[in-house]
Amino acid sequence: MNNKVLVVEDSRAYRNYLVQQLAALGCQVYDAESYAQAELLLKQHKDFRFAVLDYCLPDGQDGEVIDLVLSYRQKVIVLTATFNDEARERFIAKGVVDYILKDSMASVSYLLPLAKRLLNNDQHHALVVDDSPTVRNHVAQLLEHQYIRTTQAENGQQALEKLEENSDITFVITDHDMPEKDGIIMTREIRQSYDKNSLAILGLSGNESKTLTAQFLKAGANDFLTKPFNQEEFYCRVHQLLDMKDATDELYKLANQDALTGLWNRRFLFNQACTGCEHSNIAMLDIDYFKKVNDTYGHDGGDATLKMVANILKIYFPEDVVVRFGGEEFCIQSCAPFDEFISRIENMRQRVEKTPIKHNGQHIQVTISIGVCNLNTDLNDQIKIADDHLYSAKAAGRNQTISS
Ligand code: GH3
Ligand code: MG
Ligand code: MG
Repeated sequence: MNNKVLVVEDSRAYRNYLVQQLAALGCQVYDAESYAQAELLLKQHKDFRFAVLDYCLPDGQDGEVIDLVLSYRQKVIVLTATFNDEARERFIAKGVVDYILKDSMASVSYLLPLAKRLLNNDQHHALVVDDSPTVRNHVAQLLEHQYIRTTQAENGQQALEKLEENSDITFVITDHDMPEKDGIIMTREIRQSYDKNSLAILGLSGNESKTLTAQFLKAGANDFLTKPFNQEEFYCRVHQLLDMKDATDELYKLANQDALTGLWNRRFLFNQACTGCEHSNIAMLDIDYFKKVNDTYGHDGGDATLKMVANILKIYFPEDVVVRFGGEEFCIQSCAPFDEFISRIENMRQRVEKTPIKHNGQHIQVTISIGVCNLNTDLNDQIKIADDHLYSAKAAGRNQTISS
């Protein structure tokens, strides 16, 4: 989906500030200073990710632009100088995503995290669990209004099945009182397979029991919301949940991925070591004469080479653990049958040899040497054996594979 955003605001200073801040988030911003200009833009573009609208414009002083943009079925965030319950109810009833009190430049600090969510929410997929179709649809609608994909389940048992079928579900919103497995029992069962970071759970219930909140949290829910809730309260909780999840995912990446190539790092290999599968192959790879690449093309040329080799590895081994082991050394752990693994290794080696790397108008050409171990032993031993074969491949003239 695109990142087009519409900004309508008559104060030039405030408009420029909004445009600059949203552009820094990666938005492609279209700005207008009046109702008339906004209408022109809407006729040309009908696919904005969202629109940020000033309530009061010189040629529409009473929120007319909100109705205009909503009539084009665009998501709306309202900026308003005045704020009261009546206005709030009116905005929500119209179907705006949110509204922000425009009291100072600082109000942008509320807008930006919201904008970021709207830009990134399509990476999230929610499982909505409730026995009431009305509540289920209402919750799903609220989520989809902010680009979160949804799947629904009528009870805890069905929810567990949907989770099995949809491995991309990132969080669950669940009621408690349901026939066929209530929310708390379901939460406890989910926690046997998924921790709080890999799958977030938000408990919902209209039940008056004071102990229910604690029971949900103790069963492993990340947070809890009491029914009935209003739209803002709901979004605040969901955003908090997703912000936390995104931050944990980011930390996990930082700890387990190599920044230059995006491949896994050594720590990941040793923590996630595959055990107990029928075939286990380890290949150690090393770029030949890499020092010469750095000496000839500079460190940037060396980095470009590392990235290119990493990309080829990702293409040839999409199902396997591909690791930057250190410097210009890589490791692949694969559970494929040995013959299949070796033939893919060979194809990949030839592909590296035949792929020139464009760098500053020059072409860098490299080869790699590879050692493979397919003995089912301890990971450290497998690496040691593959490394010995790699050394032999280097000694035998490089650009070749040796396996045991
Ligand atoms: P061989 O064929 O025997 O493997 O020779 P080689 O030159 O590839 O091996 P050597 O181990 O002597 O040199 C590896 C070089 O890799 C030295 C180091 O400066 C460079 N290197 C390690 N990490 C990086 C990196 O992240 N970026 C760049 N550009 N160079 C790196
Ligand atoms: Mg080398
Ligand atoms: Mg080396």
